[in-house]
Order: sequence, then C-alpha cells, then structure tokens
Amino acid sequence: MDALEIMSNPDYVTAYFQPIFSADEHRIVGYEILGRYIEENTVASLGAFFHDEEIPDEYKIEIDELVTKFALHEIITSASHDALIFINRDAKHLLSDDGESFLKMLKNYEKMGLELNRIVLEISEEGLTENFADIVRLLQYYKTYGIKIAIDNVKGQNTSWDQISDFAPDILKVDLQKLRHDVANQSFKDMLYSLSLLARKIGATLLFQNIEMDYQLHFAWRNGGRYYQGIYLEEPKPDLLDPDILREKLKEKCQNYIKYEKRHLEIVYSLADILQADLVQSINKTKKAEEEDYNTFLFELTKQLGNKYFRVYICDENGFQLTCNVFRNEQTWEIQKEYVGKNWSWRPYFLENIIKMRNDKKGLLSDIYSDLETGQLIRTFSYPLGQRHFLFMDLSYEFLYEQDGLLY
Ligand code: CA
Repeated sequence: MDALEIMSNPDYVTAYFQPIFSADEHRIVGYEILGRYIEENTVASLGAFFHDEEIPDEYKIEIDELVTKFALHEIITSASHDALIFINRDAKHLLSDDGESFLKMLKNYEKMGLELNRIVLEISEEGLTENFADIVRLLQYYKTYGIKIAIDNVKGQNTSWDQISDFAPDILKVDLQKLRHDVANQSFKDMLYSLSLLARKIGATLLFQNIEMDYQLHFAWRNGGRYYQGIYLEEPKPDLLDPDILREKLKEKCQNYIKYEKRHLEIVYSLADILQADLVQSINKTKKAEEEDYNTFLFELTKQLGNKYFRVYICDENGFQLTCNVFRNEQTWEIQKEYVGKNWSWRPYFLENIIKMRNDKKGLLSDIYSDLETGQLIRTFSYPLGQRHFLFMDLSYEFLYEQDGLLY
C-alpha cells in the first residue's frame, strides 16, 4: 500500500496496543499505541509509512492523530484500568505548531475522563538532534501537565548523555534486538550497562523493548530493566488485556533468573576463597619482604603462581603503585618498570574495595571487565598485605574461560 492509498482510506487505519510489563509487579503497566492498516483481513504495520522520508509531514501528522484518537477512545471507554499510554511522536512534527495540537487533543480526552499523568510521550533519540533547545522547552511544558517523557531507541549516539539528562526523561526505551543475533557483542552490552547507570543517576526508568526470546528477557532483568516489551511477552493486539495475564509466567521466569544469578554469585565467591587459600600458601613459601623489597618479593611470588594470572603489582591504600608490573608473557614473567608510581584511585570501585579488604581482612574478586591494555575480558583478584598495602593480580582470560560461569 502506498501513502495515497492510506490517506484516501482513513477508515482502514486503526490502533493496536502492545503491552508493557513491569518487573516489580509482573503485570501490565502500560501499552504502546501502534498504527495499523486493515484491509481485507490483513493487518499491516504503519511503521514504514511513518519512517518514509518521502511522505509529506502533513500526511504523517494526520494519520498519527487518527491512530492516537482511535486508541484514546478505546482506552477511555474500556473498563477501569490505570495503565500508562505510550504515544509515539516525531519531535519535528510537534514543533511545527509549538506542540499545540497534540496538547489540545489530549486536553479534549481529559474532559472525557483521561488523566494526563497516564500519558507517556515517546520521542525517538534520532529526532532530538535538531532544534534541541526548543524540544527541551516543549517537553518541559508538557511535563507541567503531568505528561511523562520517554526517549525511544536510546543509544547515546545522536545526543550526548548530558543532553539526555537535560530532558529529565521519565523513561529510557532501549532496543534489545541487537542481542538476538549477536549474543556476544560485548561493546553493545557495555553501552547498555552504562545506560543503566545513567538511568539510575537521573532517576529514569529503564524499559527494554523488542524482547523476542528468553535470553533477552533475562538480560533485561539483570541489567536494571524495570519495564519489558516485546513479542516474547505479548504481540501488539487490537484490545486491551487483563493486566495479570502473564503474572504466573513472569514470576516463574524471575525465580529462574534469581536462582541462576545466585548460583553464579556462589561460583564467584567460592573461586575467591580458593584463590585466597592458594595465595596465602604461595606467600608463605615466598621470602617475607619489607616495602623496599616488594619488587623482589613479587617476582619470587610469581614462581608459585602458575598460569592463572598474567599481571601482578602492589599498590598503597591511595592507589599509588609501589612496584613494577610483573607480566607473564607465555611462560616467562617479565618486569615492566614504567608502572611504578602510577595512581589507580580513579578506577571504579578502587577505594571502596581497598576499605572493604582492610575491614574484612580478605581478598576480593572483581566483576568481569575489559582490560585496558590487552582488550581481553578479565577479573582481578586483590588481597590485603596488612593495613596499607594491597596486592593486585589479574586473572587471564584463558583461565576464566576454563572455569564454569566466570566470564558472565
Ligand atoms: Ca516507540
């Protein structure tokens, strides 16, 4: 179907509703309104129509409004339900009349009983680059009516993360489709992890969309996703659903993820215990050292370590490196002098971990992260040598690979 066909058959245009589920209640918290075109029992998405650059904006604005009105009518006439209503809008279209027609439409429905604080306006990140200040002003104006703002398809590419914070969005919508085909895409996962930290800092709720399989749902749960949307949960439907439709299924999924996560944490903690016991033995076999002999001590220690680690060094409580790096190249340990005196206190969790080790008098195994120099995924085991000095030992990728569940 082409644009003219759609424009001349407005009766065939309708709205579908895709439910959005919450992790804390396992029920439907809202619906995204999606445009559909129904002809002779075939239902086609209007997504292509809205994304086609060739189609004039006036057409899109008209159809957008038609779909929204259809949906809002459906919502206010359905049985009482407090679900959020996610409405997609192109920022450029809103600005074309200073956002007035959109607000006027909503206010009309407000008179018919719609609470405006149920409305979530979805603006895609791609649409934010132009007229940035105007959009921010408009969205802030909408917010005074209780309307919530979601940034759709957040990637942090078109806008800086500072700009995202400027919007004070209530919800960040993140697409998980990429994970379906590329489960091992570490940089994508790292980006999502940073987004989850950003969401937490700015007080935005993270919504993961396009969830099509269990792995993505698990990932969403594990990465701070509070809201979930995708055909793995529910397809877009012409009707609103019972909010508890997936309660049992989601509860069961969640319990499985918790079980998995706990088992994983136990593996990590038990490895930390083993590493600690091994290290204490190795230290006992190595000639004791004062601070000025730490380099010799470290080099002697590496003779006991085998192939688990590939880099070891000692820092003081403020993160200043007291020794060289001792670095394993295949089977031989080499001394890298240039690291003496560097400071590592800027690293995430560094000082926190120092205090933790000092208080607990125990070693710590870090989370998995990419090593700055080798680019490989590693973990670091750190261990207190008394109150003020700390041993850092980087575990090799090969070693972690051979252990069950440690690259997760
Ligand atoms: Ca959307």
